[in-house]
Amino acid sequence: MTLSRRTAIGSALVAAFAPYVTRSADAAQPPAGQQAPAFYRFKVGSLEVTAINDGVAYRPLDGFIKNAPDQDVKNALAAAFLPTDKMTIPFTTLVVNTGAKLVLLDTGNGNSGAPTSGTWMTNFKAAGFDPANVDAIMISHFHGDHINGLRLKDGTEVFPKAELMVPSVEWAYWMSDEKMAAAPEGLKPNFANVRRVFGPRAKDVTMFEWDKEPVTGITTISAPGHTPGHTAFALASGNAKAIAMSDTTNNPALFVRNPEWSAVFDMDAAQAVTTRKRLLDMAAADKLQVSFYHAAFPATGFIAKDGAGFQMVPMSWQPSI
Ligand SMILES: [Zn+2]
Repeated sequence: MTLSRRTAIGSALVAAFAPYVTRSADAAQPPAGQQAPAFYRFKVGSLEVTAINDGVAYRPLDGFIKNAPDQDVKNALAAAFLPTDKMTIPFTTLVVNTGAKLVLLDTGNGNSGAPTSGTWMTNFKAAGFDPANVDAIMISHFHGDHINGLRLKDGTEVFPKAELMVPSVEWAYWMSDEKMAAAPEGLKPNFANVRRVFGPRAKDVTMFEWDKEPVTGITTISAPGHTPGHTAFALASGNAKAIAMSDTTNNPALFVRNPEWSAVFDMDAAQAVTTRKRLLDMAAADKLQVSFYHAAFPATGFIAKDGAGFQMVPMSWQPSI
C-alpha cells in the first residue's frame, strides 16, 4: 500500500517536472562548463595573503600510501567524500603582500603538470597580480609541482626580476652531483628537473636557513622528511600568526587524520611522520590558521586533535578580509 502510494507520488513528481526538464535543453544561456577563477584572500595581521589555485592531479591509488592497507585508504577517502578509486591532489600556492614586498610561496606546476592542473597564471592574473611585480619567491622544496612555475617548458623564465630564495639544505641535496649519481633511478628525473629550472639562475639564488626571517613577516620552519630540505613558513604580524605547511602532509583529508601514513613522495618516511606530528601538534595547541599546498581550495583552516590523529577544520569563507 505504502509502496504503491510512493510510486504514485514519484510518477506525479516526474510528470510535474517533465516540461522543465525538456525545456532546459533550449536554455538561452548554455551551461558554463567550467569553474570560476579560484583565488581567496585572508589577512594575517597586516599581511595580505592570497591563495591561488593551480588545479588538481589524480594519481593511481595503487602504492600511493606505503604503510596502510588498501581498504583502510579507501575507507578514509570515502569518509572524506573523495573518489575512492584514485588519489585526489589539489594544488594551492600562497601570495603574500607584506606591504613592502610581494612574495610567492612556491609557484605551482607551470605548464609541466597534469592536464587538470596549470590554472595558476590565469588565477594569479584574475586576482589582480602581474608576474613583473613579484619581488621575491620562497620555495618550500624542489618537487616539480612547487618549482615548475618558475620556468616554462620552452625555458622562458616567468619571474625574471624576482629574488629567488631556496632552503640551503634542499639546494645542497638536489644540486649535488654525487647525490644524483647515488640516487635510485626513479629519483633521477627530479634531479634533472631541478637543474633545468634553477640552472640558468644558479649563481644568483639566495639560500635561507631554518628559523630565520629572510623576508620580514615570513619565518622559515624546519620540516624535513618529505624532502631533505622541506620547509614550512610561519607568517606573523603583530599578534597574528599562521603557518604555510607546504607538503607537511599530502591531501590533509587523509594525512591529517592519519599522520602516520606515508605517501610515496615522502623521501624519508619516518622523519616526515615526526615532522608532521610536530607541526600538527603545534598548530592544534596554538590554534593557528594553517594552509596546506595539497588541501582542497582554498586550502586553509585549523587543526583540531581527534583521537589518535587530527582533523582539519576548513576556514569559513569570509566575504571581506
Ligand atoms: Zn607537492
